[in-house]
Amino acid sequence: MNMQRSREKKLLLHVCCAPCATHVVQELESSFTVRAYFFNPNIHPEKEYYLRLSEFRRYASLTGIEIIEGEYETEDWFADIEGYEGEPEGGERCRLCYLHRIRKTAILAGKMHYDFFTTTLTTGPTKKADVINEIGTAAGEECGVEFLCADFKKRGGFKKSCELSKQFALYRQNYCGCTFSKNN
Ligand code: SF4
Repeated sequence: MNMQRSREKKLLLHVCCAPCATHVVQELESSFTVRAYFFNPNIHPEKEYYLRLSEFRRYASLTGIEIIEGEYETEDWFADIEGYEGEPEGGERCRLCYLHRIRKTAILAGKMHYDFFTTTLTTGPTKKADVINEIGTAAGEECGVEFLCADFKKRGGFKKSCELSKQFALYRQNYCGCTFSKNN
């Protein structure tokens, strides 16, 4: 990841949850003007979704970062992963889930004339950066906005996100998000 960018450049950051945002925002803010976009219709049940969203709002109010809240469009998400419900975590269902969220971010970033976009998704220790970066690059090409390839778990990134989450006293979930990961 080339961090030698100007802070004049605007970056739209897809945020999967507040704990993952902590370290990523800190890392990106030295190089970009960052706005955080919470778009996660993969999170179930609804009560869990609103808990993670409210933690994201609380994190934003503590740090002053500007945010955009996406819609909780679960029907579209279920339609996109249909046929792959029983896949193990890290398989095709997850690839489609990343694609769903990253594509939506790319479309918004294009419409709002952002210079770059990226996602916090690579912070998770089990999340495959090569898969996520490939999806992001293709979505960026489609929408005319550059995807910032990264692996935010690297260089102690995941550990830093745990420490920062503790400092902010953020709720940290014990499953990825969808009903299938909850039941595993
Ligand atoms: S396990 Fe996580 S990444 Fe995979 S489909 Fe479920 S919510 Fe999406």
